[in-house]
Amino acid sequence: MNPSSEKPISPLAAPISSLWGVGEERAKLLARLEIFTIEDLLLHAPRRYEDRRKFLPIRELKLNESATVRGTIIAAGIKRFRKGARAMFECVFDDGTARLHCRWWQAQPWMADWFTVGREFLVFGKPDSLKPRNIDHPETELVEPGEDEFVHVNRIVPVHPLTEGLTARVLRSLVWRALEKFETEIAEPAWAKWQVAGGKLPVATLPERANAVRMIHFPEELTDVEIARQRLALDEFVALQFQIQSRRKKFEASAKALPCGGDNRLMKPFLAALGFKLTAAQTKVLREIRADMAGAHPMRRLLQGDVGSGKTAVAACSALMALESGFNVALMAPTEILAEQHFRNFVKWFEPLGVKVELQTGSRKSGEWRVAGDMAQPSAPSVTRHPSPVTLTIGTHALLTGGFDLPKLGLVIIDEQHKFGVAQRETLVRKGNYPHLLVMTATPIPRTLGLTLYGDLDVSVVDELPGGRGEIKTFVRPPEKLPKVFEFLREKIAGGRQAYIVYPRVEVADTDKDIKAVTKEFENVQRALTGFQVGLIHGRIKPVEKEKTMAEFRANQIQALVATSLIEVGVDVPNATVMLIENAEHFGLAQLHQLRGRIGRGAHESYCILISSAQNAEAQARLKILAETNDGFKIAEADLRLRGPGELLGQQQSGAINLRFGNLVEDLNLIRQARELVKIQLDFAGGGVS
Ligand code: ADP
Ligand code: MG
Repeated sequence: MNPSSEKPISPLAAPISSLWGVGEERAKLLARLEIFTIEDLLLHAPRRYEDRRKFLPIRELKLNESATVRGTIIAAGIKRFRKGARAMFECVFDDGTARLHCRWWQAQPWMADWFTVGREFLVFGKPDSLKPRNIDHPETELVEPGEDEFVHVNRIVPVHPLTEGLTARVLRSLVWRALEKFETEIAEPAWAKWQVAGGKLPVATLPERANAVRMIHFPEELTDVEIARQRLALDEFVALQFQIQSRRKKFEASAKALPCGGDNRLMKPFLAALGFKLTAAQTKVLREIRADMAGAHPMRRLLQGDVGSGKTAVAACSALMALESGFNVALMAPTEILAEQHFRNFVKWFEPLGVKVELQTGSRKSGEWRVAGDMAQPSAPSVTRHPSPVTLTIGTHALLTGGFDLPKLGLVIIDEQHKFGVAQRETLVRKGNYPHLLVMTATPIPRTLGLTLYGDLDVSVVDELPGGRGEIKTFVRPPEKLPKVFEFLREKIAGGRQAYIVYPRVEVADTDKDIKAVTKEFENVQRALTGFQVGLIHGRIKPVEKEKTMAEFRANQIQALVATSLIEVGVDVPNATVMLIENAEHFGLAQLHQLRGRIGRGAHESYCILISSAQNAEAQARLKILAETNDGFKIAEADLRLRGPGELLGQQQSGAINLRFGNLVEDLNLIRQARELVKIQLDFAGGGVS
């Protein structure tokens, strides 16, 4: 019942070389575009369209407006401005209304043989001058008799993504041929019939798949393109949802949940000693988690909450439920700093309850676990350790290695899930016998991505920040203001507060000296803040030293921390109230928001200062969003729109979703339809997934 394979072997799966006109050479070129089969070619979406039903007379070309004209070459040749200068190639086209000059600044050997007087070409480009009319580096296409009448002119034609050695014209001909021969083989996917069962989806308004494939290449009207795209995107989303949802169904059918509801035995003293009351949002989420962990299927839950919303306390309570039930718990964090910090917290919280807490990170040999007592940490509370049958193990990626093994694993918690891939998540879960899974993220995930990437997870949201926090004020300033900014920093530090100072790089790159690096700026910062202690943290510093620096920062023995974005996740030092970020335009919005989340954790007012030299309006507008809102969801939506899913989630995650037509920024509606369609179908089929 896989929606993409109604017929066992489709003729569309035939190698592209079986198409007339594709020899060994062309097959190689097509492979570079990832076109290996007929189907790949048919699904090779055009990157733009040209309306060639009517050409613009050359005389009517407008300055800086792209247009296609059709003209005959009346002169062509190489031009050199002075001896030894680069050779330029120039062509003059005439269409009877006027002449058009076209120049290529780097003459290629083939040009003289190709652009010969008398040949007719279509020329696409943007005039940069009208006296004389001129287009530099236009796209051109030779007009030939034959196919032209119906494939290349007199219609709206597609211009496909190309590769060197393959022209738009050749590719267009191949697509046309493939359509002529194989259009009837493009079957409706199985799901098109589901709607009969489901009964109510508006898919009927979209064209059939075969029709959509033709329309996407050769639309009658430009408006057809979007309609066709939607149909093809829906097919993709349905296939994706089917995969996600049937995986989950299968999982639920085979997995028996471990009873991890707990009995409050540890929770009660824990909450009493915590020092604050859980927010309503935290309590609500914990209720959802408890229902899952006491339920019939292993929990698979995504916990979303903006930075500072208190996800760690939720994780702790969830862990206690499993521990109370007699199961072990593993917690994985993306960086050693964060793992150490969690370790410190959980030791303080859990050891008085008699729960053993262990740490396993990459800088410690596998097996060489460190328990709380070994930790040389001045502020560590002295704890009485009781022998305990259950353990919480905290670690980094090291938990994924073969050597690590936790018997009776009841719950796996993954912090800052967006830093890990789905595969890593599954690796850890597979270490146990279907343990419950709680993944936490502070990157608010726009709905489109949530439904696609995390479609197999239930979602809980901590949608409230604990009270008693100081406000965060955000400013964007040009580099010229740095002296003043440092003056401000000194003032705050002198008043007892602490600061983070973040740079994009570890070291200065030869290729781009404008991007500042921590190793170089460290000395400057020390000079600017004489009289105070300044620390340095980046990815190439030894873990032991990082740990030491963090401990000193926490203890306010260091007042300012110069760092890379390494500190973007999880670091929690409430006395730090200033976040200065240089070259702010080199960070993503979501990332800047994460960094800003390091401050505003105590009762004092906090300041985030973004230094940016970017003059262009777009970069300015991006940073302005941050200055205007503290709402992580708004920021993530904006980031997704501006930079795409790869930037927001990391390639590892978004790369897993391979879409040709679907758009994770725009297609929320289609994704919803697909999800609904698959859900109805799977429920209708009674969970009987093949
Ligand atoms: P995040 O969701 O970003 O992981 P943390 O769990 O690090 O947030 O919590 C941020 C800070 O808020 C911590 O210092 C934590 O002790 C504190 N905190 C968490 N829950 C509450 C609460 N209900 N009331 C007051 N402070 C809280
Ligand atoms: Mg956190």
